[in-house]
Amino acid sequence: LIGRDVLLDGRTDKGTAFSIEERQALRIHGLLPPSIASPELQVERFMENLRNLPDDLSRYIALLSLQDRNETLFYRVVMEHTQETMPLVYTPTVGLACQKYGLIFAKPKGLFVSIHDKGHIYDVLANWPEHDIRAIVVTDGERILGLGDLGCNGMGIPVGKLSLYTGLAGVAPEYCLPLMLDVGTNNKTLLNDKYYLGLRQNRVTGKEYDDFIDEFMQAASKRFGHQCLIQFEDFANHNAFRLLAKYRDQYCTFNDDIQGTASVAVAGILSSIRITQRSLSDNIFLFYGAGEASIGMSDLLVIAMEREGLSVEDARKKIFLVDSKGLVVKNRPTGGLNEEKKRYAHELEPITQLSDIVDAIKPTFLIGAAGQGPAFTREILEKMASFNKHPVIFALSNPTSKAECTAQEAYEATNGQCVFASGSPFPNVEYQGKTYIPGQGNNSYIFPGVGLAVVTCRIRHIPEELFYIAAKTLSDLVTEEDLAVGLVYPSLEKIHDVSRSIAVSLAEYAYEHNLAALYPKPDNLDQFIKSNQYTANYRDVLPSKWDWPKLN
Ligand code: NAP
Ligand code: MN
Repeated sequence: LIGRDVLLDGRTDKGTAFSIEERQALRIHGLLPPSIASPELQVERFMENLRNLPDDLSRYIALLSLQDRNETLFYRVVMEHTQETMPLVYTPTVGLACQKYGLIFAKPKGLFVSIHDKGHIYDVLANWPEHDIRAIVVTDGERILGLGDLGCNGMGIPVGKLSLYTGLAGVAPEYCLPLMLDVGTNNKTLLNDKYYLGLRQNRVTGKEYDDFIDEFMQAASKRFGHQCLIQFEDFANHNAFRLLAKYRDQYCTFNDDIQGTASVAVAGILSSIRITQRSLSDNIFLFYGAGEASIGMSDLLVIAMEREGLSVEDARKKIFLVDSKGLVVKNRPTGGLNEEKKRYAHELEPITQLSDIVDAIKPTFLIGAAGQGPAFTREILEKMASFNKHPVIFALSNPTSKAECTAQEAYEATNGQCVFASGSPFPNVEYQGKTYIPGQGNNSYIFPGVGLAVVTCRIRHIPEELFYIAAKTLSDLVTEEDLAVGLVYPSLEKIHDVSRSIAVSLAEYAYEHNLAALYPKPDNLDQFIKSNQYTANYRDVLPSKWDWPKLN
């Protein structure tokens, strides 16, 4: 690249940080104002502008346009101001951005493959300019966060998730590909929205849909290699489990809504029992919601309890689910039991009210992931405290308005005795002279580390065990000081180190179990992974120079 190309390519641009030598050699001298900025000053300037913007959607747009203009600076900003920028590039602001995607659209990011490309998906993938793609985050936009079917507008999610692969774990951005499979949308508002950018048709389903996904999986592996990681994101419940079961042993793939959620929740559970001083199998878990999140958590909990010596059957007996029809029990007259729920269907009478279910089951853990908003009433929380010294309450539904209860409500109703975590962030709670810090069971503790391990060590498959190991590693990083203020997750400030620790644990397991394709095994996995992490430092753009002897 020479001249203006260097300035216009977001991957090489340094803006005002180009040195005089670079400006002259690249023939861009004079195309920039004379003052040379340090990267530190560039970050400061950007952050000041960002904070001055009127709202979060504007901040989202500013961040994404920085990503286009000067990718290195974007990642420096995300890495150095993670707490501040994460809620912008990712949930909750990314949800709003997806809803307004057609309106705020300026420049495409990622690849769009539509149902009309059937038979030619490989050709579309071949149009992507980068060759060494190692991680794809793919969605069909049918269940974007808690916002439902957003069709093609769901592209914001793969884009945001992959920004975190890089920003939180240092997966090189050139390895990452956000991808939208547009099969239509059933969202009438979008179909009538003049700015909507996706196909204006209802969703294709059935065999045509399945064949399309199948072709995508094959084309991706042909184009980018069989070790390319494919993360499924925000697919609807009726496809998510099916596709995971179909592809998990054939490709390097996982579903973050099921498995990533499970891992972060089990990490919180493992930390909680350090406070309650009970072994895992000494607990009764009641899940409010029986969808991707709750089933994922339940399945991983079973693996965790197996490690304590329980049989699968005995472990499942400790887990109870509640769905929209009430307690999940065998032979329920109202039915509604899919294969996943059947694993946890008990021989009990049907009960519909959560409060009655709590009375009957007497859980030690009450975990909400139904996406229905406030459901853990004061009465229910008080009940939990009446038969548990330290009841564990997780209100995981997102966004904040969907949470089962607030942190304040949980601490107050249980006299400050509960262990609490949530999906969306809650402010600290002052209660009877003590400060409690609610932990946030954010999936971004887990998936970036998984991605880092897979792309650096070329892990070929992702068995469920890996998510247990990720959970255990995450929980082991929670200190006694964290626990003392009620935190069951490490502080988000440590998330970069957390991601690498998780990647190292996963890599160790992968080598032990013959799952890593990178040979020979690096002597020191921690150092190896560290040396392969992206750092947001400007790269040398000048060609190297060397002396030659005088030729005759
Ligand atoms: P999902 O697959 O659609 O499952 C939702 C479940 O909730 C279904 O089992 C549904 O019952 C049940 N439900 C609906 N209304 C109910 C009611 N009134 N009472 C009891 N159960 C009810 O969705 P998901 O992927 O599991 O996500 C659920 C929630 O968890 C969302 O709010 C999401 O944001 C949150 N989540 C949080 C995290 C995190 O914090 N890290 C991660 C992932 C998801 P039926 O089966 O009968 O339809
Ligand atoms: Mn998701």
